[in-house]
Amino acid sequence: MADKDYYETLGVSRDASQDEIKRAYRKLSKKYHPDLNKAPDAEQKFKDISEAYEVLGDADKRAQYDQYGSAGPQGQGGFGGFGGGQDFGGFGGGQSFGGFDDIFSQFFGGGGSQRSNPNAPRQGSDLQYQMDLKFEEAVFGKETTISYTREAMCHTCNGTGAKPGTTPDTCHKCHGSGYIQVTRQTPLGRMQSREVCDVCHGTGKEIKEKCPTCHGSGHGEERHSVKVKVPAGVEDGQQMRLSEQGEAGENGGPYGDLFIVFRVAPSDKFERDGAEIYLEVPISFVQAALGDELQVDTVSGKVKLKVPAGTQTNTTFRLRGQGAPRLRGNGRGDQHVKVKVVTPKHLNGEQKEALKTFAKASGEDMTETEGNLFDKLFGKRKK
Ligand code: ZN
Ligand code: ZN
Repeated sequence: MADKDYYETLGVSRDASQDEIKRAYRKLSKKYHPDLNKAPDAEQKFKDISEAYEVLGDADKRAQYDQYGSAGPQGQGGFGGFGGGQDFGGFGGGQSFGGFDDIFSQFFGGGGSQRSNPNAPRQGSDLQYQMDLKFEEAVFGKETTISYTREAMCHTCNGTGAKPGTTPDTCHKCHGSGYIQVTRQTPLGRMQSREVCDVCHGTGKEIKEKCPTCHGSGHGEERHSVKVKVPAGVEDGQQMRLSEQGEAGENGGPYGDLFIVFRVAPSDKFERDGAEIYLEVPISFVQAALGDELQVDTVSGKVKLKVPAGTQTNTTFRLRGQGAPRLRGNGRGDQHVKVKVVTPKHLNGEQKEALKTFAKASGEDMTETEGNLFDKLFGKRKK
């Protein structure tokens, strides 16, 4: 209803009281009532006055009109039928048409005016982006820029769909409400229903001169780039929301959101469970027996690990604070190092002699056949 100034129609100022508006309406509606005034434009004037009073005479609708320049579909829905010869609200003391319409909606559940208002701003669609990360990138996080194609607001017309310098007109059929009243003859009498306007498809606007870039849609595909700060410690399957980086909204609604889903590649060394990292390290049976200081890999580089004398295979040592950062909370998890004692597969003569001496020193009763000795020490061997 941007093209209609209801205050002007009723000849009152914008800060007129409800009483002043009522008086102005009574005066004008008598003056232009088609039964009393036979001037050719009287009927149209009377309709305009009734329409204006329908909005300004109702404090709520008036407030909405002042704010949005229209009384919304609920208020306007009743106007679509003007000229259909129905009882004009207020004059004959009958039910106002807007009121009837509201009752009708309640009975039939259809046209639930505010819920399905096609003019209401709607947020755009959310988008999903899969980001592949290396194991270490997930542990330490990284900053990167991603690009993707999205439906964006047209930059030429700023989403109006109209050629720059022009503005969309109010739809001539629905007067901007996005709805039209449809009257049908039924065995029960005339039935009115509210349908989405077929001219503007509910937008309430008609674009005469279309934007040359988007051809009136107000939208267009664009290649969009956004900086992403991957937090340290993300895990495979987790997602992150970047608000308003999705697709353009409708009717001035905000952009949708972008959801980044992280896919973390496994490591060939480490296993990870949350902030805890697991590593297996092979050691020789000599290291296990005598103890040693090892240099073990962690995600942040080599770290010393003391293996005490007499360590059994599968013993796990904890390197505090060498795990992955915790997403929520401070610090890092631990790295768990499991040592695997490796039995040598090939021994030279000197090594064999040393082991025989070792066995003797240990008081092991060994038969002096090579095969038996090694079967005993290192398990069954294929011959
Ligand atoms: Zn455009
Ligand atoms: Zn329309």
